[in-house]
Amino acid sequence: MPLAEIVIDVVIRTRRKTVALVVERDGRLVVRAPLRFPQAQIDAFVSSHSDWVRSRQALVRKNYRPPHQFAAGESFWYLGQQYPLVIVEQKRPALSLEGEFRLARAAQPRACEAFEAWYRAQARPLIEERVAHFAGLTGLRGKKIRLSSARTRWGSCSSRGTLSFTWRLVMAPPEAIDYVVVHELCHLKHPNHSPAFWAAVAAVMPGYKVQRAWLKKRGRDLSLD
Ligand SMILES: [Zn+2]
Repeated sequence: MPLAEIVIDVVIRTRRKTVALVVERDGRLVVRAPLRFPQAQIDAFVSSHSDWVRSRQALVRKNYRPPHQFAAGESFWYLGQQYPLVIVEQKRPALSLEGEFRLARAAQPRACEAFEAWYRAQARPLIEERVAHFAGLTGLRGKKIRLSSARTRWGSCSSRGTLSFTWRLVMAPPEAIDYVVVHELCHLKHPNHSPAFWAAVAAVMPGYKVQRAWLKKRGRDLSLD
């Protein structure tokens, strides 16, 4: 008995020469095809790649989270844990964390800003403390610490010695935050990803690969989007 047929969600025809299959973040299958490529051949192509499509869809659906609406019951990250959101009537503070995120109903229309302000307020002292801790261990000291809004990088280190960290980092577990701090501090000495750089990271944090893998796997979910 054949398995259930694969559903093609969208076919996009352009002046390309080959057929390509794309499984979107929400699991939809998009087929990119040449302008006059017959539908029967698209179907045949898809069914000959059905194992790949199914495993890809299973993987992305497992990790998929719909965009945040800031409604009661949604969960938000802090230090590697997810906490549910509840809406409360009291007006202040706009947002607090007491085993659950408590958002004032009056602040709900600007919930994203309230969350960002809250994360930033946590991020500054926490990251400064971890930078000071590892500076003490390694003797590596930056000139300045900056909080960024970067979406695609957790931290960076400028040639002038400014260490930047995105406020989103406080959504990650403490050990992953430490890894990013150590990573950027080590860039003060090694402004590259050479073997010497990774050896310096490993000297401070022998298990850093676990943290790096965690950020790679879950990092996309650490967002207010
Ligand atoms: Zn780096």
